[in-house]
Amino acid sequence: MTTPTVAGTIHHARPFLYGPEEAALCEALRSGHYGHTEVTDQFETAVAEFLGVSSTVAVASGTSALHVALLAAGVGPGHEVIVPSLTFCATVQAILATGARPRFVEVSPRTLCVNASQVLNAITPDTSAVMPVLYGGRAVDLTDVQPLLTKRGITIIEDAAHAFGSCAGTRRVGATGALTCFSFGPIKNLTCGQGGMIVPRTPEEADTCRRLRGLGIVQPAAWRAETTSYTVGGFGLRVQMSSLNAAIGSVQLARFPEAEAKRRALWRAYADALHEVDGVTVVDVDVERTVPHLCAVRVHAERDRVFRELRARGIGVGTHYPPNHLQPAFSPWHRPLPVTEQIGREIMTLPFHQHMAQTDVERAVAELRQILTATGSAQ
Ligand SMILES: *Cc1c(COP(=O)(O)O)cnc(C)c1O
Repeated sequence: MTTPTVAGTIHHARPFLYGPEEAALCEALRSGHYGHTEVTDQFETAVAEFLGVSSTVAVASGTSALHVALLAAGVGPGHEVIVPSLTFCATVQAILATGARPRFVEVSPRTLCVNASQVLNAITPDTSAVMPVLYGGRAVDLTDVQPLLTKRGITIIEDAAHAFGSCAGTRRVGATGALTCFSFGPIKNLTCGQGGMIVPRTPEEADTCRRLRGLGIVQPAAWRAETTSYTVGGFGLRVQMSSLNAAIGSVQLARFPEAEAKRRALWRAYADALHEVDGVTVVDVDVERTVPHLCAVRVHAERDRVFRELRARGIGVGTHYPPNHLQPAFSPWHRPLPVTEQIGREIMTLPFHQHMAQTDVERAVAELRQILTATGSAQ
């Protein structure tokens, strides 16, 4: 077999800039103020308006959003947080940062998200929070267990790192009443370079989150410049969002309708092209309501070889995710999760970013089909 020539690499994921980010970043740089400034305030307000919520709290990353939200919900040592093993390790590290421990659970093979019964079966007397991960951008509906969780004082904290812009029913994710965390990292649906955001449930919770992100200082940054002292009201981290990151995010948000349209079109193009391909199953993201973050497939046989051959042909595939309960760092909380382990052996994510054209999707799928056909005839 001759090795096909690599006609340029299709990256797995890349940030997409609309253009005005550079000017906005320069303006913020020239202002000479790089902490949490009114640029950050404006970005918070704009995101709140976009989502249809009364307030948001900007932080330095998605991981710090999860960490701060867990702390604000009162999660700490001795507590257990229910979390799918199939997530980015950041979700688990945020739980450990509070002193709590993860209780790993399975996901539904169709959606790669947790469902109500999986959550229900994992509750113990120590459970203080549930952290559903909105895999690929898909909303997670836990309304069936919500009354029970509320009765037992268990908080739902959504890891919506993939799901900025997605809808849950008719509302945006973040506007459903759950404590929600977004990531604005380099390759997320909206990027600030680095950044994250919390949607708190109440004004009191918003206040707690603001203190926690700003070293426990009670006064807002703008007031502090005007006074001779400040009050440290409690524990706090240094995870504010810089004006430099917020400036980038504001431009991205203004152009977000383009991201929504492009990402939906890309995912649909994949779904159409993959429909006829034997040997893989597309993970459904509920594209009508979701702003897709990635396109995942399950490869039924020889995933690692298919992955390597695609990489060799310049197709930037990924693995989202190697299960966390199998990671050495998380072995104290390991429990057997056969469904997740099977998914971990089969999962592969295809190139997915806004620089891609329909022809890139077609090429990625054509290469995949060819490799799978060769696999079949070799058996
Ligand atoms: C990206 C991501 C995070 C962490 O966000 P950062 O901004 O990179 O800190 C957390 N959970 C999931 C599922 C993610 O994809």
